[in-house]
Amino acid sequence: MPKFEKLFNLKNSYDLLSEMRPISYDYYTEVMNHGTMDMDNLRYFLLCLDRLYQEGFESPLRDNEYDEIHEYYIDQGGSVIRGDLSSTDKAVHAYPDLKGTIRKVHFITEADRKANGKVKSQKSLESWLITTMKTLSDSGIYDGTIDIGMYTKFDGLSVILEIEDGTLKSAITRGDKNTGEGQNKTGIFQFMDFDKECNSLGVSKFGMKCEALVAKSKFDAYNKRFGGGKLIDERTAATSIMNNDSPSSSQMEYLTLMPLMVEVNGVEYPLPVMDGNVPQEIEDTFNWLSDEFPACTMRINMNKLDVALDKIKKGIQLLEHSIEKLDYPVDGIVIRILNEDYRRALGRNTVDCVNNWERAYKFPPVQAKTVLTDVEQSIGFLGKVSFIAKVKPVKLKNKTIKSISIGSLDRFKSLDLAIGDEVIVQYDIIPYLTRDASCKRSNNHPIDVIVNCPVCGFSLHKVPELSCINPDCPSRVIGRIYNYCDKIGIEDIGPSTIERMVNDGLIRNISDLYKLTDKGLHDYGFGPVESKNIVKSIHRVREVTPGTLLGSMGIAGISKKTFEKVLKKIPFDTLLTMDTGTKELEKLCDIDGIKTKTASKLLLGLSLMRDEITEIAKHLDIKDAKDYAMLVCFTKVRDRDFEKYLQSMGVGVVDDVTKRTSILISGGGTSSKTEKANKLGIPVITLDEAYKRFNY
Ligand SMILES: [Zn+2]
Repeated sequence: MPKFEKLFNLKNSYDLLSEMRPISYDYYTEVMNHGTMDMDNLRYFLLCLDRLYQEGFESPLRDNEYDEIHEYYIDQGGSVIRGDLSSTDKAVHAYPDLKGTIRKVHFITEADRKANGKVKSQKSLESWLITTMKTLSDSGIYDGTIDIGMYTKFDGLSVILEIEDGTLKSAITRGDKNTGEGQNKTGIFQFMDFDKECNSLGVSKFGMKCEALVAKSKFDAYNKRFGGGKLIDERTAATSIMNNDSPSSSQMEYLTLMPLMVEVNGVEYPLPVMDGNVPQEIEDTFNWLSDEFPACTMRINMNKLDVALDKIKKGIQLLEHSIEKLDYPVDGIVIRILNEDYRRALGRNTVDCVNNWERAYKFPPVQAKTVLTDVEQSIGFLGKVSFIAKVKPVKLKNKTIKSISIGSLDRFKSLDLAIGDEVIVQYDIIPYLTRDASCKRSNNHPIDVIVNCPVCGFSLHKVPELSCINPDCPSRVIGRIYNYCDKIGIEDIGPSTIERMVNDGLIRNISDLYKLTDKGLHDYGFGPVESKNIVKSIHRVREVTPGTLLGSMGIAGISKKTFEKVLKKIPFDTLLTMDTGTKELEKLCDIDGIKTKTASKLLLGLSLMRDEITEIAKHLDIKDAKDYAMLVCFTKVRDRDFEKYLQSMGVGVVDDVTKRTSILISGGGTSSKTEKANKLGIPVITLDEAYKRFNY
């Protein structure tokens, strides 16, 4: 599994994007199919995607997929990720109740959801209403009907304005990647004044949640003038303005702030005002908004849920008609409960900053039919086969689409594609290929999955994704060496350095890393300082556990955890000498949790890598976990130099909290590791405390 915490800490977002692009879909599929125990890693995965989203990059996952895995995370007890919502966040303005995100639903009824098939965690409005009804009944104030408001859900960036004495005191966007606090954008809106609103509301201060938007009619001009033609949609255009610390006034002319909710004297009022109980002055101040965007109210009778849902469905369809004519990007409809006493009873989840009385219904992605012209099957960075569908170009949301990534082998197989088949292309943030019964099929033979590696000719294996497992395959060498450096803890050597060294013939495999010298590198054109640093970084990592070494070899389908499980029963030296015979296989299968499939993959992988591992081991100090006097684990904080210091003192640094762990060093907050430590009674200390404790 990739370690997303490390990626999240990459400084450059372009680097983050290029790291996330090839692995996100696989990780998503893995988690949705098999679940994950590593909630901390999943959290960082979501944080990485959220960071890309916040910074206006194209997302490596489709919106629906993001929502799905995000919902899974929440179902497993995680807190909402999108928008600076971790429990440790500080409120940086006076209106914390305006902060937060609206939980999404993707279907109206449960039947719609089920008809969609594979979707597990995306929710329906129906299930939310049922939960809501139950909470209301329990509170004893429920009379069987609910007043519902439906509002346009704009697709821009959320900004919270704090207004005092007619002027803007602050404008805060959603979270900053490191602190989780909103970014202060007060400077760019300084020109706005709110005398009129303050007078009309009769207050000296109020808070307002707005959506920063770029109009559809202005997008092309903005993109040409300020985006170099590279912006993908209106939302990324709005992001590019907001992320600019000092946008010019001509740039600001493209930005619109649309008020969505206002907080006056401690009470929030959704806008536009549609509810008769709202104070007159609020209605008067914001009544102009009713002309700006479609909204409607309805009373639904919850005793007849199917009738109620049908009414909501019709309401949404009606709104959609008006929304199509709007000049702003919209991606759904916000559905809110208007009855104030109900709202109070339903309350707000303050940890997640989610109001329990509202949900956002997301429109399904835009789609069109086209014809498949080919499927390219090629080998990627880590030896995995990727499937790219080529289609006759279609235009969706102003973007021409001709190539679509299909993702995994299983999905490719389930689509059963033949050249000339009619297919459906959906486009939300990235294109997605699918088909249904209405798609005409050609009479061509379905495209076969390749069986041999197109680069080296070795036969391909499913581990679990279709991959070339030939360790010497040129397609894999760079990825394998990079994977090794990454897993074993060799820092400062990125994929591009490795690519250069492989292409120059300096290294052909992992063990060659240990033969590199300053002079050798320098002779091949690396700078003197760079050469020294490379060699230093490689040799800095000396003491490793056998599990770490084997888990870093890139043996497909076998994780470090699996190796550790095996190593508890079979010593490292013995394991290295095992061949792929039946006897050895049985010996492995006797170990709890090791199945035949895993065992044979492991033995095959080891036999292919045996010489390589033996060679590498000569340069390392292989230390079993039990050789350490003490084991410590880190969570939410890292200090590589300190770790090395600890190891030099005979203290082992491990990745997981187990019974044998003596101390957990935490950067604050809670994680699955702190929870486990608390359960096991293992002390949790801060990094500073750890420095003191170990005289560092
Ligand atoms: Zn190959």
